[in-house]
Amino acid sequence: MAISAERSVVIVGSGPGGIYVAQALLEKAPGCRIDIIDRLPTPFGLVRGGVAPDHQHTKRVDRKYAVTASAEGVRFLGNIELGRDVSLDELTEIYDSVVLAYGAPFDNRLGIPGEDKAGVYGSNAFVGWYNCHPDFRTLDPGLDVEAAVVIGIGNVAIDTARVLSRTPGEMASTDIADYAIDRIDASPLRDVHMFGRRGPVEASFTNTELKELGALEDATADVDPAQIPDAAPETMEGAELRARTRILGTLRDFGAEPAAAKRRAIHIRFYASPVEILGGDKVEGVRLERTKVENGRCIGTGETFDVPCRLVITCIGSRAEAVSGVPFDETRGIAKHQDGVVRPQVYAVGWLKRGASGTIGTNRIDSYDVTERLIADFEGAPRPGPDALDALVAERALAPVSFDDWLTLNRLEEEAADDGAPRRKFTNIGDMLKALEKAHADA
Ligand SMILES: Cc1cc2nc3c(=O)[nH]c(=O)nc-3n(C[C@H](O)[C@H](O)[C@H](O)COP(=O)(O)OP(=O)(O)OC[C@H]3O[C@@H](n4cnc5c(N)ncnc54)[C@H](O)[C@@H]3O)c2cc1C
Repeated sequence: MAISAERSVVIVGSGPGGIYVAQALLEKAPGCRIDIIDRLPTPFGLVRGGVAPDHQHTKRVDRKYAVTASAEGVRFLGNIELGRDVSLDELTEIYDSVVLAYGAPFDNRLGIPGEDKAGVYGSNAFVGWYNCHPDFRTLDPGLDVEAAVVIGIGNVAIDTARVLSRTPGEMASTDIADYAIDRIDASPLRDVHMFGRRGPVEASFTNTELKELGALEDATADVDPAQIPDAAPETMEGAELRARTRILGTLRDFGAEPAAAKRRAIHIRFYASPVEILGGDKVEGVRLERTKVENGRCIGTGETFDVPCRLVITCIGSRAEAVSGVPFDETRGIAKHQDGVVRPQVYAVGWLKRGASGTIGTNRIDSYDVTERLIADFEGAPRPGPDALDALVAERALAPVSFDDWLTLNRLEEEAADDGAPRRKFTNIGDMLKALEKAHADA
């Protein structure tokens, strides 16, 4: 028997970070028992609740994750929250190792006056709303507006601007919330202003995402041609140079495009940093300071301008929050760790470890590294493992959702979908649990 067969690991969070740990354990620690707990009844974290609904090809990674989550020796226990239902100390008593993979879902703040006004939303909340995340289904962002400001020039900012500008026809083959597409379509929104503090050379969006803004059915994208340099800086080379050259080319194409008569327009502007959200209780505009980038540093010029709008969405990254017992780096908003080791027996992966950056694939490399470390650290008498969690779950009358239960929810979502759409999502945990009760009773 492999030594790992006596071992058990619990992974807290079933997003990419956590699932890749399970995958690595299946490959490298045969026989090890793996429990994955998640606070939601649905697995896969931001693949379900963050990745844009019109990027179904990206979401399809969930099929591979399903193979991992349903492999022998792996259990999914949804609807169990670390910090609410079970503590870190309890998990370290039960399992040989605990992997924290609970993400970084709290929006960074701008840190400027007025940001708490009604009508200002963080991207996690806004994206969660259109993606049916149960925490944000009742967000009800005011879309009875003609102008919106999106702060940020990364891919999440592009997702947000694009989803606000798509037509119902374009979204018909997606799993966007019905309430969201109805509200977006009914909105008198004409202008979506995207602002970045830095320039097109520093912007963190990728060309594939950027190009999509130029191919929308009923929205145009424009830039200020004066802000786009003729070429990438000479200091860049290789893949970095090629990628940046493509981005500049796409931006130049936007600039050159004549203003077409379309319903909405996305205006991408660089070198502008928000300094105040204007208005009374509700947002009425954003004051921005013009900036310049010198030696890689972004510097304010002191010159400001105002953009009237009644909706602001900040896409400036996110952070984790401290969970009791987890040492926390307040400055970076991540778990304190050394190469993924939080303390003996406890590890961190994914966005909780690295902060909110990188793609789904970045998590794979990182989770494999941390898992190798974890396996090398196995020592002492094996802990009781999953049976002890089951005892605790029973004692507390918790209602975990198994992976088979998730497959039932998945089937119900697929059956509820309109023609051409992949699924109509549940948006409410109570409805999910009721549907499962009914399915169990009918079985
Ligand atoms: C809006 C948006 C769009 C994105 N689009 C793309 C894209 O198109 N392509 C791409 O490659 N990358 C994309 N990403 C990045 C990608 O989603 C992340 O790299 C990845 O999801 C991070 O994985 P994670 O496991 O660290 O966190 P998450 O995916 O956030 O997973 C964390 C999990 O932990 C659970 N959890 C939280 N707290 C607890 C708790 N206390 N107890 C138990 N469980 C808990 C959550 O419910 C969640 O399931 C996007 C990110 C965002 C925000």
